[in-house]
Amino acid sequence: MTARILVVDDILPNVKLLEAKLMAEYYEVVTALNGPEAIKKSLEAKPDVVLLDVMMPGMDGFEVCRQIKSNPITAHIPVVMVTALTDVEDRVKGLESGADDFLSKPVNDISLLARVRSLVRLKMTVDEWRARENTASQLGVVDANESVMNQPADHAQILVLEDMQFDANRITDALGRDQNQITLVNTGMDALKEIAAKDFDLIFVSLNLKREDGIRFCAHLRSNERSRSTPIIMIGQESELDRVAHSLEIGAHDYILRPLDKNEILARCRTQIRRKRFQDKLRANYEISLSMALTDSLTGLYNRRYFEVHMERMLQNAKQQSKPLAFLYMDIDHFKRVNDTYGHNVGDDILKGFAARMKDGLRSFDLIARLGGEEFVAILPDTPAETAYMIAERLRKMIETKPFSVNNDTQELNVTCSFGGVTLSGDHAQSLTVPELIQKADEQLYKAKHDGRNCVYFADKGRLS
Ligand code: GH3
Ligand code: MG
Ligand code: MG
Repeated sequence: MTARILVVDDILPNVKLLEAKLMAEYYEVVTALNGPEAIKKSLEAKPDVVLLDVMMPGMDGFEVCRQIKSNPITAHIPVVMVTALTDVEDRVKGLESGADDFLSKPVNDISLLARVRSLVRLKMTVDEWRARENTASQLGVVDANESVMNQPADHAQILVLEDMQFDANRITDALGRDQNQITLVNTGMDALKEIAAKDFDLIFVSLNLKREDGIRFCAHLRSNERSRSTPIIMIGQESELDRVAHSLEIGAHDYILRPLDKNEILARCRTQIRRKRFQDKLRANYEISLSMALTDSLTGLYNRRYFEVHMERMLQNAKQQSKPLAFLYMDIDHFKRVNDTYGHNVGDDILKGFAARMKDGLRSFDLIARLGGEEFVAILPDTPAETAYMIAERLRKMIETKPFSVNNDTQELNVTCSFGGVTLSGDHAQSLTVPELIQKADEQLYKAKHDGRNCVYFADKGRLS
C-alpha cells in the first residue's frame, strides 16, 4: 500500500533521515521545515499521514496539529507527533491537540513503519466512506463541517481484556472520568461473550495475558463480524515493541506502554472513540444517501433507476439459469380524477396504500418499483406464464375489491388498476433489452386501458378473465 507522507521538522538532517527511511519502504515523501509551511502542504499535497516535530521555532507542533485538526478539509489526516520529549504531560498535550500518536526521537524503525502503515490503513477506510458520503453532502443531508475532532468522546462502551489487577484498575479509573461504561474481563473467552451481547466502541487488549496470546486474540477480533470495525488499543511493554508492531499490522489501531499513565490512557481512548464515531456517522450518511438515491420517498419502493439496473441483472440470471421470468406494468385507473376530486394528499395516500398492497401480494424475491406517477412495475423471477397470469389477476382483484382508506382513515375510496404483462421463457430472456421489455408490457397496458380498464392483458395471451 503506497501513500504520501508529510514530514515536518525544522532541522534538515532530521527531515532527510525520515525521508530516507520512508522512501526505502516506497512511501512518497513531502517535506516542510516550519509550521506555516506544514499547514500549507497539508492542504496542497493531501498527505495520508503527517509526521510532525513538536519543537519548532515560531509555531510549534501542537499548534500545527490543532490547525490541521480544526480544518474540515484536513481534519481526517492522521498526525503523528515526533518528539525528543518523553514527558507524559507533553504526550497528553499532543493527543489533546488532536495528534493520533507519538514517536520518540531517535525514531525506532519498527515503530515508525508500523505506525505509518496502521494509520495509512485507517485513513484509507475513512477516505472510502468520505467519498461515498460526498453525494449525501451534495444533497444537503450531511453537515460538511462535521469532523473527527468535534465528535463526542464520552459515554462510550469499553471492553478491557487485562488480567493484571493493578493495570486493570488504572484503566478503569482513567476511563471512568468520561462517564464511560467499562466491562473488565480476564480471558478471551469472556471477552467474546461480552462482544456477542453488547456493542463496544473500543476494546483494550493486553499483550501480556497469563494464559493466552493477545496478538492472536486481536486477529480474532478482526475476523469476528461483531468486532471487525471496533478500534483496539493494545497494552504492552517497551521491551516487546516488535510484538506491538505485529499487533498493529494485524489491525490494532493503537497501543499504550506500561507503566500506564492515566492521562495517556484517557487521551488515546478519546482519539479512538472520536474516530469510531466519525466513521460510524460517515457510514450511516452513506446508507441514507444510498437509500435516497435508489428508493422512492413517498412509497418506499425502489425507483426507476434501481429498477433498470436490477432488471438487467434479472434478465441475465433468467438466461443463465434458463428460468422463466414475468414482468408486469401497472397503471392506476383514472388517477387524475382522484386528485382532481379529492386533492393531491388523498392521491398520495392511494399511492402509498397501493404500494403496500402490492408488496403484500408479491413474494419477497419479487421486485416492485415505482416508475413515476401512478405507474408501477413488478419483476417476478422464476415464474412460468400460467403462474404469472394467476398472480396478475390476483393483484388486480386485491386492488378492486377492498377500498383504500385515505385522509387519516376518515374516508374510503375505491380504485382500480390496469395491468400489462410479458412472460419470458429462460431462452427468450436474452432476446429483449430492458427498454424493449418495458415497451412490450406498455403495449399490453394500453390494450387493457382501451378495453375498459381494470383488467389484465398479456403478450401472446390477450385479456385474462
Ligand atoms: P388512466 O386510467 O388512463 O391511467 O388515467 P389517469 O388519470 O390515471 O392517467 P393520467 O396519466 O392522465 O394521470 C395521472 C395522474 O397522476 C396525473 C398526476 O396528477 C397524478 N400524479 C402523478 N404523480 C403523482 C403523485 O406523486 N401524487 C399524486 N397525488 N398524484 C400524482
Ligand atoms: Mg393512470
Ligand atoms: Mg399514467
